[in-house]
Amino acid sequence: MTLAAQPAPTVLRTAPGGASATDLVDEIYVGGIWRRGSGDGIDTVDPSTGEVFATLHGATADDVDVAVQAGLDTAHRSGWSSMYVHERAAVLHRIGNAVEHNRDRIAALQTLDTGKTLTETRALTMSAANTFRYMAAAVETMDGALTTPRGPWMTMSTHEPMGVIGAITPWNSPIASDAQKIAPALAAGNAVVSKPPVWAPWVTLLLARLCEEAGLPAGLLSVLPGPGRTVGEALVRHPDIAKVTFTGGTNTGRHLAHLAADKLMPITLELGGKSPTIVFADADIERALQGVLYGIFSSSGQSCIAGSRVFVQRSIFDKFTAELAERAQRLRLGAGTDARTDVAPMIAAAHRDSVARMVDDAVAAGATLLCGGAVPTEGDLAVGAYYPPTVLTGVTNAAVICQEEVFGPVAVVLPFDDERDLIEQANDSVYGLACGIWTEDYRRATRIANTISAGTVWVNTYKQFSISTPFTGLRDSGLGTEKGRDAVRQYSNQKSIYLDLSEAPLSWGHRN
Ligand code: NAD
Repeated sequence: MTLAAQPAPTVLRTAPGGASATDLVDEIYVGGIWRRGSGDGIDTVDPSTGEVFATLHGATADDVDVAVQAGLDTAHRSGWSSMYVHERAAVLHRIGNAVEHNRDRIAALQTLDTGKTLTETRALTMSAANTFRYMAAAVETMDGALTTPRGPWMTMSTHEPMGVIGAITPWNSPIASDAQKIAPALAAGNAVVSKPPVWAPWVTLLLARLCEEAGLPAGLLSVLPGPGRTVGEALVRHPDIAKVTFTGGTNTGRHLAHLAADKLMPITLELGGKSPTIVFADADIERALQGVLYGIFSSSGQSCIAGSRVFVQRSIFDKFTAELAERAQRLRLGAGTDARTDVAPMIAAAHRDSVARMVDDAVAAGATLLCGGAVPTEGDLAVGAYYPPTVLTGVTNAAVICQEEVFGPVAVVLPFDDERDLIEQANDSVYGLACGIWTEDYRRATRIANTISAGTVWVNTYKQFSISTPFTGLRDSGLGTEKGRDAVRQYSNQKSIYLDLSEAPLSWGHRN
């Protein structure tokens, strides 16, 4: 495949925050070729200062076609789709090791782009490295099946690659969400076209460079940052995209599900949440306080599984809520590069403002503000996209603030009387992503875990992840499952083969 000669890449100004300027080259990765995107310039902003640190020219809908054709061609020409699984797995292992080796470089870049703390971006990077290695091990040890014949045949069930997979990701956990999609899709023998978010495009491009260095055939992976409505939608609509895996908001996901239905194309959707965290009077209260704080305020609440609705048994409600607000107030707001920071800036001032508006509306509708609730107006915090940990109470579960995803550091605390009351309130949500249960009674914990509408339940812990454990969103929180060994199978077509073993002629019809 040839492309028109491209202008030399522009190396942008020295990167702040410890990230390397060489990782901020104004190039996207289209069909195995690094070149300046022909789409609009995307100004990428450091959320801790509000300053533009680099401009990246994004992709266009035309690039989608080039990338998809290159993916199809490369999967076939390089032999990736038909390669022995242990050879494919070896490449994925090398990618995982390269990600780990470049952990600090990736983390610095991601902190610059998203504002997240370095502690978190290092953890996300290691999660990505482990995901590549896990999917390598998974594909290498997966078997097809020799099914029990019910006639004179040998019958087999095998799996084969689907073709080119479209992977669309949000800005809140790049590298980890990239790996969660790209690793199993490649492991299954596919090509991948990734569409990272406009607010945080850089880390996915760096991942592609590491994949290339690790020996992934050029053209098998494309990375096309750009607006969702043009580039993302062109990807979903493309006739040669065999499957889309999407993580993002519920409204976007629902729209993409309609587009997928028109093509009869499978789509996996990991969407929003409004997850309940439940504290019983018999809980280890110190552990519960820490877990609830971590569940909602880590990642500045920009987490699909944030424990944003905190249900506390009425007998301990006042004391627990007061202590929660007191501790939330003590959390340190600051830049992601500062090791003392608990709560880093939000992704962008525009997003921070939408969070602030939702809190203001809740208070105007009668909620009681126990802490936070005001955009900082002084010092460094005034220039970055900061919003303080906020605790609200005095509303019922029917309130807008309890029903809509805020995607920010905002907890609403609600009382409950008994298990029945709790289940009714907790399940009264369009979402069904996650749930936390804090109690010393494991029978009760198990009963609730089995009754609650959520894809993941944590008992006496919260927001813990393991790549070997599947992740599913119920109701408006998603469609389909990611992670786990079967993730590889989510990117495979199943095929049945019958080998005839009969000596008798195959006769059919009266005259034959
Ligand atoms: P978003 O839906 O606005 O965007 C997600 C991605 O989709 C981006 O890359 C965006 O450019 C693209 N996109 C937007 N419109 C599109 C369209 N019409 N066609 C194709 N692509 C399009 O979401 P966001 O604001 O980036 O992310 C936050 C949301 O993601 C929250 O709702 C959060 O709960 C959810 N999320 C869910 C999970 C999960 O695993 N369930 C994980 C992380 C985030």
